[in-house]
Amino acid sequence: MRIGAHVDSTDPMAEATARGAETVQFFLSDPQGWKAPKPREDTKQLLAAEVDLYVHAPYVINVATLNNRIRIPSRKLLLGHAQAAAAIGAKGLIVHGGHVGAGDDPAVGFDNWRKTFAYAADSGGFEVPVLIENTAGGDNACARRLDALARLWDAVADYEVGFCLDTCHAHAGGEELLGLVDRVKAITGRIDLVHANNSKGAFNSGQDRHDNLGGGTIDPELVVAVIRAAGAPVIVETPGGVDGQGADIAFLRDRLGAGSPAA
Ligand SMILES: [Zn+2]
Repeated sequence: MRIGAHVDSTDPMAEATARGAETVQFFLSDPQGWKAPKPREDTKQLLAAEVDLYVHAPYVINVATLNNRIRIPSRKLLLGHAQAAAAIGAKGLIVHGGHVGAGDDPAVGFDNWRKTFAYAADSGGFEVPVLIENTAGGDNACARRLDALARLWDAVADYEVGFCLDTCHAHAGGEELLGLVDRVKAITGRIDLVHANNSKGAFNSGQDRHDNLGGGTIDPELVVAVIRAAGAPVIVETPGGVDGQGADIAFLRDRLGAGSPAA
């Protein structure tokens, strides 16, 4: 089971080395901006790296929204990120599940997800697996609670869609971590990546505030149990840079044990 961290995008390989990470996730552009990613000067190095790479799409992307001035640029930016992620040999592109506005029909949001995959298919398809991530907040989110996730998965059933499970988002979003992996897999059939984070916010607070594994409102053993059950690669998106994340990675390695069975 590969364990790593979300790191600064300037020199991801140096960040991986500093943390003893076997996998890294980073942004390819400003996470709060709409600019398409530029080709990276370290492409050769990244393609040759033994560290597995994941790309996190910008937070501004919301392909579910009924606002076409957000939705249309969102799916374009997502497709551009999939191309850029493929160019560096990334294993997947993580994108938040998005949401519809207050009073909007959630069914349209789920169908907008279907349209996103249809649009990508018409453009030659996403060049890397797209992993939809569960989110912590909002009353109209597509992937906060599992009832919504089930409707989302029904909508995109004709396409190959991956899933990224964030433990902070699940807890703060109001889903119990105990037994969560089985409940998610009953819907998605898969978990491709775990974002292993503790939560500063309380259960069902809706707050997206990550904490180090030993802090926060989640029993860290529950995070370990989720990872074991998921049997998927792990990224910590926790504070504290090299020291904080390095300690979180070391904690998980210790608790999971080298070569311990995935489930
Ligand atoms: Zn996450």
